[in-house]
Amino acid sequence: AKASGRGMHAFYDLAMDQERRDRRQLESDLRQAISRNELHLLFQPIQSIDEAAILGYEALLRWTHPVRGNVPPDVFIPIAEESGIILSIGEWVLREACRQAAGWDPALKVAVNMSAVQFRLPNLAGAIASVLDATGLPPARLELEITETALLKDRVVTLDILRQIKALGVKVVMDDFGTGYSSLSNLQSFPFDGLKIDRSFIAGMDHDANARAIVRAVVSLGRSLNLPVTAEGIETQAQYRMIVDEGCAHAQGYLFGKPDTGPETFIGVREHRVE
Ligand code: C2E
Ligand code: CA
Ligand code: CA
Ligand code: CA
Repeated sequence: AKASGRGMHAFYDLAMDQERRDRRQLESDLRQAISRNELHLLFQPIQSIDEAAILGYEALLRWTHPVRGNVPPDVFIPIAEESGIILSIGEWVLREACRQAAGWDPALKVAVNMSAVQFRLPNLAGAIASVLDATGLPPARLELEITETALLKDRVVTLDILRQIKALGVKVVMDDFGTGYSSLSNLQSFPFDGLKIDRSFIAGMDHDANARAIVRAVVSLGRSLNLPVTAEGIETQAQYRMIVDEGCAHAQGYLFGKPDTGPETFIGVREHRVE
């Protein structure tokens, strides 16, 4: 028993070594990803429920690794965050999203995910302003999605950064709402323009009464705070009916469209109504 126990231990050590090597390799590959043109954005529509129209698109980052192919963001974003590479990647994402959105129908917004790490950037608002300036995207068409983890550290500094961003005319929404900590006080202390209910609650809604109760509570909370609530991860008509019944303002999910190339470049007057 003792020998086999030791054998198991050695096996785990080996597996850990391999994992660490893999991660280090991915990290160094990721450092080259921008200059090697391996990153691109997909855009997923955000639907306005009242107007039955597309409001805008969320930019979602994709990495095509030369050997491994498509590496999911849930794998490489944490590596980018821990290594600090997220700062240059985040800047690239913002610039590329704004550049593309500047060519869309001007009624459409673009939502960009922002990592908690990017909030430590000195003069984040200045960096955003210069991207808007360079791409010509009107600030009102940009929406940043941040999670509560961005807010945890220093509340005074966070509030200051949020105010600077909002002073540009850029909107800020809280992403993955319900999965972090002290959500309620964050909503109260910080000037958000909306919140997105995490997909995990939506996925549970049709079979789990608790998930549905949470969705209902979040929507009514959003309503009392005057914050439009977006339900993400809507895959079925049944889920859609439920979030409409609960009073969500916006919806996103495979039912309306998967992340894709985004709208065509705007050439004239076009209808954006989707029934
Ligand atoms: P997120 O911001 O919560 O984005 C929503 C995720 O749900 C996306 O996964 C999207 O493709 C997926 N999704 C949307 N609708 C549905 C649906 O109906 N069903 C299911 N099963 N999934 C749906 P994705 O693109 O793999 O991104 C995962 C996460 O990676 C994002 O979660 C976000 O946290 C992060 N991420 C992606 N792009 C960026 C980026 O440019 N910057 C940063 N900092 N993070 C990013
Ligand atoms: Ca998001
Ligand atoms: Ca989410
Ligand atoms: Ca997320």
